Amino acid sequence: MPGRIGEVMRDGGGGGAPALMPGTSTDVRAHRMPHEWPFALGLALLLGVFVASVLGAVQDTVREVPVRLALAAGDHGSSLSSDKRALLLPAGRVVERHARLHFSLPLSSEDHARWVVWVGRDAVESVSLSTGGWTSARRSFFAPDSDEGILPSGFQFPLPGEWRGDVALDLRVTSSQAATLRVRVMRENAAMRLEQRGAALSAAIYAALATLALLTLALSSAARDSIFLVFFGAAVAALVLLAAENGHLYQLPLLGVAAIWRGQGLWAAEALFLAITLQLLSRYAGTRRTVPDLARGIDVFAMGLAGLAALCLLGFDAVDAWISPVGVLAWFVAAMTALGVVADGARRGVQMAWPIALLVLATILVSIGVDFLARGRWYDPVWLRYLWQSVLVVTGVVLAVGLLSRIGEYRNQRDRDRLARADSERRMRREAARSDLSAMLQSRLRTLSAGDVEWAGFRLLLEHLAPQVPVEFAALMAYGYQGQDIVAVLPLSHQPAVEDIAARRLLPLKRQAANGIPLQQPVTLPTHQGVVAMEAVIPLAIRAPAWGALLLQRTGGEGFSTEELALAGDLARLTMAGIEQALAAIALRRSAEVDVLTGSMNRRTIDQWLVRSFSEADRDRQPISVLFVDMDHFKAINDRFGHACGDHCLRQVAATLRGALADGDLLGRYGGEEFIAVLPGRGGAAGRVVGEDLRAAVERMDLSWEGQPIRLTVSVGVATRLAGDGTPAATVDRADKALYAAKRDGRNRVMVAPAVFC
Ligand code: GH3
Ligand code: MG
Ligand code: MG
Repeated sequence: MPGRIGEVMRDGGGGGAPALMPGTSTDVRAHRMPHEWPFALGLALLLGVFVASVLGAVQDTVREVPVRLALAAGDHGSSLSSDKRALLLPAGRVVERHARLHFSLPLSSEDHARWVVWVGRDAVESVSLSTGGWTSARRSFFAPDSDEGILPSGFQFPLPGEWRGDVALDLRVTSSQAATLRVRVMRENAAMRLEQRGAALSAAIYAALATLALLTLALSSAARDSIFLVFFGAAVAALVLLAAENGHLYQLPLLGVAAIWRGQGLWAAEALFLAITLQLLSRYAGTRRTVPDLARGIDVFAMGLAGLAALCLLGFDAVDAWISPVGVLAWFVAAMTALGVVADGARRGVQMAWPIALLVLATILVSIGVDFLARGRWYDPVWLRYLWQSVLVVTGVVLAVGLLSRIGEYRNQRDRDRLARADSERRMRREAARSDLSAMLQSRLRTLSAGDVEWAGFRLLLEHLAPQVPVEFAALMAYGYQGQDIVAVLPLSHQPAVEDIAARRLLPLKRQAANGIPLQQPVTLPTHQGVVAMEAVIPLAIRAPAWGALLLQRTGGEGFSTEELALAGDLARLTMAGIEQALAAIALRRSAEVDVLTGSMNRRTIDQWLVRSFSEADRDRQPISVLFVDMDHFKAINDRFGHACGDHCLRQVAATLRGALADGDLLGRYGGEEFIAVLPGRGGAAGRVVGEDLRAAVERMDLSWEGQPIRLTVSVGVATRLAGDGTPAATVDRADKALYAAKRDGRNRVMVAPAVFC
């Protein structure tokens, strides 16, 4: 059973609903990441592990000796934490400050490990310990010694091994930054463990940031979205800022030169980080599109931050005096803006924006906490710093994941665009084929003669269909169409195959064509298993009893899409219309050239031919003769038998005259019952012979009307072109005169005009 093509087909498909091709779907839905919250929870868990590891590092039961700090007399700026274990330094000019450090080492020592004073690493110019006859090494945040290990988190001061009992040390610090120095006394191996944990933690943080930087750099070229470039900048800025905050930057061979900026370098790094991060978050949340004013504000603020960073890098000492409050204020404004931007994005449904907003909040809270907690009797500020850095890294990772899920959106969008483009290109190609075919049908067919129009039209159709609908062969079969049977095949090599189909399946094909609906059916062969080809039959709109169909055959089991069939049907319809129009135009042209009654040329046409034939004869120096043929006493025929009989006689005489003339001769009805014959290449003598033939032929005619025999005769006047006759007028005139002479002479005779009539 052949499968029916559905409604789309019947509508013609040309301007109808877009048909879906089998196997390709234009319905690509943008899929959002479905597991946003579980994913965020997973990340929160990761964050928890970070926090736990940080806290675990601190909580580790390191056997410590309790310490107590006391401010030196006369020091007004510094203060102590509530548990008296941390020295808090104010920001301002570089000043050397002193404090007394008291602790008591156990008298009996079961092992021989040395005792170490461990001071949390913070941005101080120098720190050292001394007492009576002993002075420690001078440690500096900005100029770490090579013996301080990789990624240190504290300054270590090993104490002389023999020290026992109460110890009182002088702690000297110079700093222009606000700094918090927490002092701990522990055995050397415990300090070592502490350092190892710190190194591992900071290495993990740097590695994560470096990975983010590389990932975003790679993505910026892959996704061609500048947000990844901004992300890259933010990741690098974060890496520099954190490494500087931890003091590790100054250990590096090249980046170590950042130490020349001292504390101001830290503020510069922070300002740059804030500027880039704000840009990143506002882009992520789409602020520029939704709240353009805020986006502009962020741009200005970011510019201000960059200016602040530049000012810090100029290295004026005066900046030290005010940079601390300004920096904290900038930080606060940036943090609030960031939170606002992301929360606004989350409200608008930006992907992953809620988890990011929460993480930004957590980052802010933790970094505030660092400052506050360091003042109390809580943990080391160093560990708190690692904690906020960890939260920052997790935020960055979540942001990256959010962006990654957007890459899927880009891809989907690109796929959609590509499909739409391919679709419109196909549409345009087909539209071009349509208009090209109809233009060709218009221009080519009308110049042809009636019998060739159908063939030419069918060939044009096949040629235009082939590039649009790939087939093994296409054939147009029409039976009884304009009085002929036509089978046109492309490529020609398949002509025998099509003739075979026509011979075997003419009747089924005719029935299918009569249905008027395009259909396709599998072609099977007794010698082969399964479907060898698919065949489409598209009926042609031809008036019965004539019929015709476009037959398409495609090797293999892949059928024709409804779109292809619609196009084929469309082109076939265009072609049939084109052929009909061309035939009508040809008929119209003929009617303008031909005398309706007799079928010979009309006066206008014969005049044109006369001019053309005379100029050719002049050019070729060939003779040419003109014969006027006028029916004798024709008025009497009309009077006796009626006008219809007269017309009948005119038709018969015209046919007789035509039959008596040679192929190259022209015959026209000059008017009334008067004909003109033009004989190119023949002179006066030949003209007389032809005139005599015409006269005799009419005389011999066996005519009757309503049982009554009719006898007709004609008189003929012959004239030949003379050397001087450039135009036919003079010759025609002489022929007319010769005819007049023949009439006068008694009619039913031929008269040849002499060279000059007088
Ligand atoms: P003569 O031998 O002198 O040519 O006589 P005649 O009657 O043929 O000549 P005349 O010019 O007096 O008459 C021409 C007639 O031809 C007049 C008209 O009735 C007839 N006639 C002209 N055109 C047609 C036509 O198209 N159909 C018919 N039935 N008669 C026509
Ligand atoms: Mg007459
Ligand atoms: Mg006449």
